[in-house]
Amino acid sequence: MKAIISHDIDHITVWEHLFRDMIIPKYMARMHIELLSGKISMREYTLRWSDFFKNKWQNIDELITFNNIHQLPSSFFIAVNKGIGLNYGNTAAMLWIEQMKSRNCELGLHGIEFDNAINMKQERDLFESLTHLPHFGIRMHYVRNSDRTFQLLQDTGYRYDSTEHSFRNPYKIGRMWEFPFQIMDGWVIENYKKWQSLDLVKAKENTLKLIDKAVDQKLEYLGIDFHDRYFSHSFKTWLDWYVWLIEYLKANSIDFVNFHTAIGEMEAIGDSH
Ligand SMILES: [Zn+2]
Repeated sequence: MKAIISHDIDHITVWEHLFRDMIIPKYMARMHIELLSGKISMREYTLRWSDFFKNKWQNIDELITFNNIHQLPSSFFIAVNKGIGLNYGNTAAMLWIEQMKSRNCELGLHGIEFDNAINMKQERDLFESLTHLPHFGIRMHYVRNSDRTFQLLQDTGYRYDSTEHSFRNPYKIGRMWEFPFQIMDGWVIENYKKWQSLDLVKAKENTLKLIDKAVDQKLEYLGIDFHDRYFSHSFKTWLDWYVWLIEYLKANSIDFVNFHTAIGEMEAIGDSH
């Protein structure tokens, strides 16, 4: 089994949310609940205010640096449309797209349109015109999908998608590769609440169960979704969880690949049959 780690970019600044959505009041509620329930320390609480006033809700640069030091491929999904709490514009996205491209990251679209063929094509074309990439993949924001989404994604011309959450090996829908993923930071640490409901020990236990399940099911690739936003001392449990997960996988001789490398591997096997 190899691991494919990918990162969804949901936020860039605080201001992008001002008067546009409920993200700021939710952020405030969440940090107070987490402080009062003892899930975060006073230091984390203070750092969250500091991020707020610094207007910084992304940690892309820091995450790429960490990944590079640990020889992990960096694979990001960034949005070019707005929707459900995602509110950064193309100008802000472009600054990061340029940096990610210059630092050898794999770049895909964080999709908003999931059920309308025309809008999905427009979204894809916009991403293509901003990135000038020949081939790329997608993951839906909030992994939104309907019973038509996956076929529409293939029809729209994506090389790969990683929206499906299941313990299945990658498979093809027409010409597109679907990469189901198994581990998402929020599902493990928040455990189906809107705030951090588990501590690091419990989050690690749950993660190990998911990894064991992937091994039992003989998955070729373990898909992990970690949001750059949480690669910060302001979210210490999340940061520690990511660092621990990488160390654990490395200690168990798991190699790390990005989606394009995995596709190359799978197509090479296919050709030899
Ligand atoms: Zn998202």
